[in-house]
This record gives sequence, structure tokens and C-alpha cells, in this order.
Amino acid sequence: MATKQLKPLLSSALRPFKDHRIRIVRFIVQFIMFGLINGLVFGLARIPVLLPIAFPSGGPFTVVWNAFEALQYLLTMWVFPYLALSIFLLFGSILGKTTCGWVCPFGLFQDLFRLIPIKKKKVSRPTDKTLNRMGMAVTVFILIMSFIIGLTYFNTGSKTSFGAGKDMPYSTIDPSSTLFGTLYYYLEWGMQNATFGQEIGQWTFVFFLRIIIFAAVLVLIVLYPRSYCRWFCPTGIMLGLFSKYSLFGLQINKNRCASGCDSCEKACPTQVPILQYDKDVTNKQCINCGECIDACKEGALKLKFRL
Ligand code: SF4
Ligand code: SF4
Repeated sequence: MATKQLKPLLSSALRPFKDHRIRIVRFIVQFIMFGLINGLVFGLARIPVLLPIAFPSGGPFTVVWNAFEALQYLLTMWVFPYLALSIFLLFGSILGKTTCGWVCPFGLFQDLFRLIPIKKKKVSRPTDKTLNRMGMAVTVFILIMSFIIGLTYFNTGSKTSFGAGKDMPYSTIDPSSTLFGTLYYYLEWGMQNATFGQEIGQWTFVFFLRIIIFAAVLVLIVLYPRSYCRWFCPTGIMLGLFSKYSLFGLQINKNRCASGCDSCEKACPTQVPILQYDKDVTNKQCINCGECIDACKEGALKLKFRL
């Protein structure tokens, strides 16, 4: 009798876990990857590996290198960035934006903010497209800027006239670099320095610009889940170029869909129009997070290699 009463209780207690199986596995993977990326904390050594993620190569405990930072740095040194471009090509064409959903620390940060119980907003398709184009324009501008700095360096042997952005223009405003690099260093430095308060007046314009951009991104990601990934992240934009052709990704079997159901689209943090696709969901906003699979009660969606 007691077992009979326990069963429904147990089943309802486990429901949230059953309903969000992939989300839970993904959070575990994201935290493990966050630990590995910050391997210096555990005594790991730096390794010569470039990853397409938003995380500063100069972070206090980072063991890997950020591919978009490498791309900018090599351009500003007038070196053709074969390796950085190959990393985007390799990851993008095999995994699409899976690293965004499962590895990127700034993606994890956004997913944690998504848990704040505030009603989330959605944008219309045209607004989504416009914002995405703005992000693309910023990415192209950053690459052209890096090229111009490189050209100046080639001609004059110096790039100091470009100030704080001379090595990696985007890193001067990159919110992931502000969070995991700048803020950490300022806090650590502040805790060790009794005159921290007085120093605030000496902080530069770039520092305040970084804080304003970071604060704006923070507001955005609380209201619009994964909005930095969707619209502005250059790494995500570069990977998104390959989503259409990537070997791994989401597939839908519409024969299994229940009539009128759109639970998958409602659950998608990046507003992918999943039901517009007949089989392969090749949308460049898809980060292969699997939230739609958790939401689908008919088993119509799968993450798999499309071979
Ligand atoms: S798009 Fe998002 S998840 Fe992907 S690298 Fe950028 S911040 Fe990270
Ligand atoms: S379509 Fe599915 S896997 Fe892709 S981002 Fe949306 S919820 Fe995640």
C-alpha cells in the first residue's frame, strides 16, 4: 500500500527532471567544460588549442585560446589567419553551433540568467533579422578594422595609434571578456588594494564603455534568452555561416507531430522556426541545445549526424 502511494509522489517529484532531461545533461556538460576551460585553477597547463567560444584567452585561469581573438590578433599582425579560420570551418561544418549550446562559458552565463523567473519576451521575425544583420555588420567591421590595423603595422612597424583595440578590436568591448577578464581582475585587484575607491576616478573611458555594454547585454539576456548569441556574438555569427551545411544538427520527423502542436517552437530559446523545416533544421540561430526535444512529447525531434 505504502509503495502504491509513494509511486505517484516519486513520479511527480521526478517530473521536472524527466521534462528537462537534455537541459540537465547540458548544464552538467557546460559546467564541466567551464571547469576545464579554466583549468589553471586545477593545476592544468595552458594548451595550444583554439576554440570557437566567447571567453577571453587572457582570462585569469584560461587554458585554451579564443578563436575569434586569434583571428583578430593575426590580422592585426599582418599574418593570414589560416589556423583561426580553419577552426571555424572545422567546428562549423561538423558541429554547427553545438559549441555555443554545450561549451561556451558566456552561453552558460546566459542560460543561467534565463532561469530568472521573469516573463521572457520574443521579437518578430523582421526584428530578429534586422538585429542579426546588425551583428553581422559589427563582425565585418571588426574584421575590416583588424585588417586596417595589420596594414598599418605592415607599413609602419607600429600599431600603437589604435590604442586599446590595437591587438584585438572587439575585445575592448566584448561582454564575455568584461565578465570573465576585466571584472575579475578589477575585483581581485580591488580586494588587495585599500585605495580601490580612489582609483575609480582614474579608470579609463574604455573601462566605462565596457561596463555600459556589459550592463546592456545583461538586461537584454534577462528579457530575451540567448539574445547576445542570436544577434551580436561574432563567434556565433561566424559559426552560423556553416549551420546550413553542418554534419551534426537537429532533425524533425513531421509524421510524428501532433496536429496543431508547436511546443518545440515555444520552448526554443533562440526562436528557431522549427516547423518551417521538413527534415534538417538548418537554421543559423540553432545552437543544438535540445530544449525542443525535451518539449516534444511525440519524439519527433532528434539531434544527430546527417549522413
Ligand atoms: S554565440 Fe553565444 S554561445 Fe556561441 S560563442 Fe557566442 S556567446 Fe558563446
Ligand atoms: S531549434 Fe531546438 S536545438 Fe535548436 S536552438 Fe531551438 S530548442 Fe535548441
